[in-house]
Amino acid sequence: MGDATRSRDQRAQRSGLRLAGVRTSWHTVDDGDFFCPACGGDRSYRRRAGRRRFVLLGVPLLSRGRVAPVLECAACHGHFGPEALDHPTTNRLALLLRDAVHAVALAVLTAGGRESRAAREAAVHSVRSAGYTGCTEEQLVTLLAALAADRDSSPSVCAEIELHEALAPLAPHLAPAGRESLLLHGARIALADGPYCAAEREALEAVGRSLRLEDEDVDRLLAQARTPH
Ligand SMILES: [Zn+2]
Repeated sequence: MGDATRSRDQRAQRSGLRLAGVRTSWHTVDDGDFFCPACGGDRSYRRRAGRRRFVLLGVPLLSRGRVAPVLECAACHGHFGPEALDHPTTNRLALLLRDAVHAVALAVLTAGGRESRAAREAAVHSVRSAGYTGCTEEQLVTLLAALAADRDSSPSVCAEIELHEALAPLAPHLAPAGRESLLLHGARIALADGPYCAAEREALEAVGRSLRLEDEDVDRLLAQARTPH
């Protein structure tokens, strides 16, 4: 068999496979941004639904049912299940972190140190470094007053719920060092006006719980923050 014949046979075989088989046709349902697990960054995705059909000689014959929708990355064209959306984009993560630092600062100031200029300044510094670059002392004071007025019944319970809402969605996406650094932000604010008072310690322990830090790690970090470097 000559080379020409063999390659003709292979072509016929390949086109035969293409002409009789199950083919999936895709259409786009919606789109958005996600963190692509394959190319590792914030990307656009298209959510695509598929329909499988048996095809003979290029003609779709029988429906073989639907395919579960997939997310298709616009950059690498990889297909992923809907669970790929559970991982926040880098942009979203930055916003969550910023809000978390803000919530920790408010919780610690609520517990103690509102009256202290040093504590308020430490809080402003933390919040600015986390991305709220326009944050001022007056804004924090106004917010603290509004929160205090809001929490007439049981202030510490409300504070802990608000804190948990800001921290819990973030915790699974942060490395231990990232969660510890959030707690240390709070510790530095609490220490700006002197040693931890009981309410500040409680607030910081609540931060640790929402961040899924072990009790002994919280104790270690709070002690570490107290030691000047
Ligand atoms: Zn990708």
